[in-house]
Amino acid sequence: MDTAQDTQNLNQSQAQPPSCGDSRHLIEVRDSPGKGLGIFAKANIPRGTRILAESSLIKFNENEQPTAKTIMQAFESLSPSQQESYLELHNYACDLDKQILESQTGQTWDELPEMHQRVLGIYTANSFGSIHLLASRFNHSCLPNTTHLYNPTLDKETFHTIQDISAGEELLISYMDGSNWVKSKRQEYLQKWGFECNCPACEDTRKAEPKRRNGWSYHY
Ligand SMILES: [Zn+2]
Repeated sequence: MDTAQDTQNLNQSQAQPPSCGDSRHLIEVRDSPGKGLGIFAKANIPRGTRILAESSLIKFNENEQPTAKTIMQAFESLSPSQQESYLELHNYACDLDKQILESQTGQTWDELPEMHQRVLGIYTANSFGSIHLLASRFNHSCLPNTTHLYNPTLDKETFHTIQDISAGEELLISYMDGSNWVKSKRQEYLQKWGFECNCPACEDTRKAEPKRRNGWSYHY
């Protein structure tokens, strides 16, 4: 990044100071071709920027394994406006998640009330230990440019850029917790979200192949 860009970013930060202890004014949610909604940079964003620090909408205690019943209870405890926002999130439950939820409810997926299917599907599609309204819009890449971590001091999930990001570029996180999996294993895991990854690491198999033999690794 050159000096002119640094100055531009600094000016932008000064013109519009970060709110909520983050730089969310530098990002926007909009359509990501083939992926639904995504989070995009509105300006150049330097590596290391805390782009988002977001409280959870739904969160379970560390030792508590969410079940269909407790997920429904958590949803019902939200305010009407929070429920409305929750129901706008992407809804998808893979077959394995459906089987787990069926065993917990004693009902087949098709027997569940439509609202239960929707609330549970949104939970399985968007939870990484907790549900966040804005952070749920991050799409996946096996070569992410953004990383996230729970910050216990803030009691928020924080998202930092790990590369310089250009205006208009999509901010992407890894859904896989940084595991060093080969493409087939990554794709198997991503079935939880029902999509096939087309990031550079997954598209360029021939280039990735030699690295796999020596132990595939990617930025996280
Ligand atoms: Zn990928």
